[in-house]
Amino acid sequence: MAETEVLIIGCGIAGATAALRLASNPQRQITVITRASDPHESNTRYAQGGIIGRGPDDGSEILLGDILAAGAGVSSPHAARILADEGPLILHQVLEETAGVKFDSDASGLPLWGQEAAHSRRRILHVGDGTGLAIMNGLIAALRRCANVTIESNGTAVDLITFPHHSRDPLDNYRPIACHGAYIFDRQERTVHRYLATATVLATGGLGRIYRNTTNPAGARGDGLAMAHRAGARIANAEYVQFHPTALAAPGAEGLLISEAVRGEGGILLTPDGRQFMSDYSPAWKDLAPRDVVARAIHHEMEAHDYSYVLLDIASRMPAEAIRNRFPNIYSQCLKAGIDITQESIPVVPAAHYFCGGVLVDEWGCSSTDNLYAIGEISCTGVHGANRLASTSLLEGLVWGARAAQRIERTIDRASATKRPGFAAIPPWDESGLTAAPDPALIQGDMQTIQNIMWHYVGLVRSGERLSRAIRELRHLWNEIETFYRTTKLADGLIGLRNAVEVALLVAQAAQHNRQSRGCHYRQDSVSVEGDRLI
Ligand SMILES: Cc1cc2nc3c(=O)[nH]c(=O)nc-3n(C[C@H](O)[C@H](O)[C@H](O)COP(=O)(O)OP(=O)(O)OC[C@H]3O[C@@H](n4cnc5c(N)ncnc54)[C@H](O)[C@@H]3O)c2cc1C
Repeated sequence: MAETEVLIIGCGIAGATAALRLASNPQRQITVITRASDPHESNTRYAQGGIIGRGPDDGSEILLGDILAAGAGVSSPHAARILADEGPLILHQVLEETAGVKFDSDASGLPLWGQEAAHSRRRILHVGDGTGLAIMNGLIAALRRCANVTIESNGTAVDLITFPHHSRDPLDNYRPIACHGAYIFDRQERTVHRYLATATVLATGGLGRIYRNTTNPAGARGDGLAMAHRAGARIANAEYVQFHPTALAAPGAEGLLISEAVRGEGGILLTPDGRQFMSDYSPAWKDLAPRDVVARAIHHEMEAHDYSYVLLDIASRMPAEAIRNRFPNIYSQCLKAGIDITQESIPVVPAAHYFCGGVLVDEWGCSSTDNLYAIGEISCTGVHGANRLASTSLLEGLVWGARAAQRIERTIDRASATKRPGFAAIPPWDESGLTAAPDPALIQGDMQTIQNIMWHYVGLVRSGERLSRAIRELRHLWNEIETFYRTTKLADGLIGLRNAVEVALLVAQAAQHNRQSRGCHYRQDSVSVEGDRLI
């Protein structure tokens, strides 16, 4: 049992930023929970390319235009404007001043602005090709200096504590749904504790792991999204899952992102038998076509010819020394997997990369459930619409992390006295009668089934028939897994499996309802609003 003023679930850029901002008031008491044993572990840690800053020839109107263009008519202009207006200052305050992140600069100290696809200006700040790790190192070090922040590792949130669902008072049925904390599974003790909080912030990141091929690390299985959905919070834009065209397909190193910059430097995609194919799909842009076009082209080649990967050749396009200097991280990671990218082509597949939808929130990160905030990749602020502009996600985590903190700070004193129930009002976790340990073979087998269903039927190319089949199979699995969950002792893998099937269904159902191809949601059985970009 624990009581805190603010419970933040998740320790990536969004959760850490919210915690740091709240910690500037020494009266506040903040608890940050992460299921990982190392608090640096998160999607944020693996970000390569960088984060949007404001270059010398740039302005918030120009960035706003780029975000709205990428979002394919679905981005909220209000949310995108907030990001464009406030991003650079919050980035400077949180990352440079507080966390001490040193972005790459030239000899005179001026930032080395990077260029990324669909950006009309050079505006990407980076630390080599390991920006995310530099950011996490700075944020966690800063959090550890805050006396009023407790970071608890190895704690997997199981469910939100919400009234009326967990209330012992029948009169709570007549009140709006409100969140009062979460049930947290201690992975070392293997017990569940109640964490009561005046404000609860979900910052649990994305859901790439529900797909067979993904760039996301193991923890990105949609836990927070599933919890919010079970608690009755509104979810939006769940059909918009962004796929990256090139993730490494090598045993033991699957999913390592091979940056678009490799094609930017002249890299060419080939079939396993050496045929160039991108000019068949995009005669004008060829290998530098937009991300979704390249990803679908690779997918089509793989399906049509039964390839398990395609090849990306940079070795014959760039001198070895230049490759090692430009892509040190990719070079060394591939070498560990037995591929010398200066000598041979890289086997790649498209992979689920980023979740554009999420828990619907307002400009302060408030969800439709009282006292519940959602920030970062789990949230749907409206910024990304149907397709995310590269490098906006880290910035969104920062901006909404800071905004949620600001809102909590403004409202918490009024809320504390009246809104936080005591432990007596909330039932403890009940595992009585459960003795069976979860069978890892069932967890792994069911997870792989979900990943295969999502990859083949709810992936890059969708159709009514594929989606109906996915929903039927996922519903059946949902029932099986729910029974499994209710009759077995808790484990982190079981919690993740239950959440994965819940969010897989959410994505599949949203994709079935939306018959219009737009951004990263592509249905081969509907008319596209971006006809010239389809394959
Ligand atoms: C390989 C890769 C490269 C990328 N490159 C870029 C880039 O260059 N620029 C950019 O802007 N974006 C990039 N992105 C996207 C970006 O990294 C993410 O969108 C962003 O980091 C998400 O931050 P977050 O704080 O929302 O979540 P995360 O950083 O994923 O943090 C989630 C946190 O929640 C915790 N958690 C999850 N479930 C639970 C649970 N049940 N209980 C307790 N804790 C839980 C995790 O342990 C973790 O601490 C990249 C993503 C990947 C995978």
